Amino acid sequence: MGKPTGFLEYEREDAPAYSPKERIKNFNEFHEPLSFEKQRCQAARCMDCGVPFCQSGKMLAGMASGCPLNNLIPEWNDLLYHGNMEQAYNRLHKTNNFPEFTSRVCPALCEKACTCGLNGNPVSCRANENTIIENAYAKGFAAAKAPSMRTGKKVAVIGSGPSGLAAADQLNKRGHNVTVFERADRVGGLLMYGIPNMKLEKHIIDRKINIMKEEGVEFVTGKDIGKDIKADKILKEYDRVILACGATNPRDIKATGRDANGIYFAVDFLKSTTKSLLDNGLKEGTFVSAKGKDVIVIGGGDTGNDCVGTCIRHGAKSVLQLEMMPKAPDERAANNPWPEWPKVCKTDYGQEEAIAVFGHDPRVYQTTVKEFKKDKNGNLEKVVLVKLESKKDEKTGRFNMVEIPRSEYEVKAQLVLIAAGFLGSQDYVTKAFGVAVNERTNVKTAPESYQTNVEKVFTAGDMHRGQSLVVWAIHEGREAAKAVDESLMGYTNL
Ligand SMILES: Cc1cc2nc3c(=O)[nH]c(=O)nc-3n(C[C@H](O)[C@H](O)[C@H](O)COP(=O)(O)OP(=O)(O)OC[C@H]3O[C@@H](n4cnc5c(N)ncnc54)[C@H](O)[C@@H]3O)c2cc1C
Ligand code: SF4
Ligand code: SF4
Repeated sequence: MGKPTGFLEYEREDAPAYSPKERIKNFNEFHEPLSFEKQRCQAARCMDCGVPFCQSGKMLAGMASGCPLNNLIPEWNDLLYHGNMEQAYNRLHKTNNFPEFTSRVCPALCEKACTCGLNGNPVSCRANENTIIENAYAKGFAAAKAPSMRTGKKVAVIGSGPSGLAAADQLNKRGHNVTVFERADRVGGLLMYGIPNMKLEKHIIDRKINIMKEEGVEFVTGKDIGKDIKADKILKEYDRVILACGATNPRDIKATGRDANGIYFAVDFLKSTTKSLLDNGLKEGTFVSAKGKDVIVIGGGDTGNDCVGTCIRHGAKSVLQLEMMPKAPDERAANNPWPEWPKVCKTDYGQEEAIAVFGHDPRVYQTTVKEFKKDKNGNLEKVVLVKLESKKDEKTGRFNMVEIPRSEYEVKAQLVLIAAGFLGSQDYVTKAFGVAVNERTNVKTAPESYQTNVEKVFTAGDMHRGQSLVVWAIHEGREAAKAVDESLMGYTNL
């Protein structure tokens, strides 16, 4: 414990964000880190709890509580407070391959379970993590360290999202020869072409990929496995394969007029912005633009929020974000106590920006799309919305959201973005490798296992557990690497 009285002496202080009206002028990250000295005081707030819920990563009431990577949070809080930064980095890196990503995009499950949060504000673990990793880059602790010996075993990782990258990093450290195949033109999966630049600037990904390359990981981009390269060839050339292709099948909206021009899936829309930003600095005509348009985002979750923030940066005329469910409470409900994940209404950066620009929260609850209306050229011009209410299904006893009769109304829209979740893996890959899938089309394994029904083939990440979080993808990649290593060497020390 860095400072026994720290939690009494210091209030929580967060990195200040640029004001919404300022930050929407570009696609840059918008938090200014606290000074090193101030962040040390934040680390001093940690009480080094006897039972550190922050790092437990246990399932409580069906949701994870605490860090899924079991990051050694009280240890590195203490090391940060004492300024022992190389050791802090070593302890952080022991359990987390990519703190530079999680310290920017993780919803900080650790903080929701922190004991300090029981009676006040939790310790700012995520910002402490960010200080440790950025300091490690600045001081050279995070430089490439290639393995001292090679095993001669070859592993192919299909997909370069956080799960594939974590698996590759672990297996390379162990001395196996790892090749990561990616169908996109850039490495990173949804880190690169899903999460917008203002949450994770893309040079942060490139910085780590360059280190992994120096350490010996090979990356092959622009190759769609199962299409450009046959699965049989991969299976023949590699000793083991890890499928880490994500859950990229978007859930569609079935409504009349769905074929109108101007309706896109959220990830396609977000990818077009990031790709254009990186390729040519957002040259007009090279991305799907919301400029001057009335936009409807279907889906009240985080992806929907990213669409709202992106549309505002494009210069949208108006933005509505539809959510089928009722608004969550502002505070924890009595049946959702600490340290469970708090099911509360969160106003995220995109929504804050919409409030600043348009004067109102973009979210419209208990509402969905009934019909898309197009003009004579097939372009979207209006959307018919309908209100929903929760009703008990007498047969199943379950509550469903159903339409309220005669509650339809029309709104203008020239752009609709569907952010209604994902259905699971894409079947051309699973069929090509002959791996079984479950009823949700996630790749099937025994519980807590990463090995598929095909002996040499393993799986990790969203493709295995369904759409989730970066921190879970890293966890899955690490666990899959362990299983692969054990199957290759007869034991594992990963
Ligand atoms: C818009 C958006 C915002 C998000 N924001 C956050 C956030 O802020 N915080 C957070 O924790 N999580 C966030 N998530 C979730 C998070 O990004 C994912 O859970 C995580 O990226 C999953 O990692 P993965 O490695 O399993 O798959 P992915 O990141 O989906 O990567 C899979 C990769 O496999 C490649 N691939 C697929 N098939 C093939 C093939 N046949 N051959 C070669 N390559 C292939 C794909 O091109 C892709 O690059 C967000 C998701 C979205 C969609
Ligand atoms: S990875 Fe996420 S949950 Fe784990 S310590 Fe970092 S911010 Fe917290
Ligand atoms: S729960 Fe909070 S106070 Fe306790 S050890 Fe973890 S970070 Fe520190």
